[in-house]
Amino acid sequence: MNGLIDGVYKIEVPTPFPVGDVNCYLIEGEPLTLIDVGPQTSKSLAEVEKQLRSRSYELSDIEQILLTHGHIDHIGLAAHFVKARVLTHKDPTEVWIHHKDAEAVLNYERYAERYEEFYDELITVSGVPEKETMMVQRKRITEFFKSLVGSVPTAHSFEGHATFKTGIGELSTIWVPGHSSGSTCYVCDEKRVVFSGDHILGNISSNPSIAFDNSEGIGMLTYLKSLDRILSKVGYLALPGHREPVLDIKSRVEALRTEYDDKIREAADLVTNTPKTVYEVSRLIYGDYETNSLILALAESRDLLRILEKRNQAKLVNQHGVIHVIKN
Ligand SMILES: [Zn+2]
Repeated sequence: MNGLIDGVYKIEVPTPFPVGDVNCYLIEGEPLTLIDVGPQTSKSLAEVEKQLRSRSYELSDIEQILLTHGHIDHIGLAAHFVKARVLTHKDPTEVWIHHKDAEAVLNYERYAERYEEFYDELITVSGVPEKETMMVQRKRITEFFKSLVGSVPTAHSFEGHATFKTGIGELSTIWVPGHSSGSTCYVCDEKRVVFSGDHILGNISSNPSIAFDNSEGIGMLTYLKSLDRILSKVGYLALPGHREPVLDIKSRVEALRTEYDDKIREAADLVTNTPKTVYEVSRLIYGDYETNSLILALAESRDLLRILEKRNQAKLVNQHGVIHVIKN
């Protein structure tokens, strides 16, 4: 366990995903708080217990869990904390998440099924060849996902601006939809630190196109807008959901903006008078990716094409349920 600033410790928890470990943060003091918890696997649970014990804590000592968003690697173990605390204390651990992601914690089964519908729709409209569709095995993936999360029916959700008392001072929320609809950064002005979840990561993409709830608009544009919201915290230390701390929020945001501008430009160059499917565009942009990256590649390609359409640089035509893009 790494001490980052006085009273804050990073707990690195293994995940079964290519991203590797997820970072959870223990905030000592009253109430004993954890930012994110890791996925529900026996390996993750053992690691969390081991690292908490190195600071002389048990699962049941955690009084408050603040979740940055509703993805498996961040929320899966929450139910274990709640059960442990109910056994030793009367009240369950207080678990909090933004209301737009609340379903993932309250009822993961339903959330996973909605995700599956999103997968199905995306694969269908993208024109993925049947040979590759067969390899996706989404039912099996959904079952696997379900096994990685224990639902917490007693979880609370917040809407708008919320504040939480912690041992390092008050944490206030910034809603940053994009990576997921309810993605949230928790900010401690007193310590000048932002728990940034997967909104800002040091050297990897935040995958801004996989939020299945498109009520905020095009995922990638929503994400880019949310980057502005974090710019008010320039000079703060960002503690992300994966990998190393982000020391300079401003230059990271600028680098991300350039990265996405380049991607949009690259996609624009691929749009010609010959119609292409989203799948075909994804292969031109991301090359020879593996089937387990299919959803990410399709979701991002679809967003890029939607952005081009919005900017009048492309026309998306639905032919028998499959989107085709041509130059406008
Ligand atoms: Zn994550």
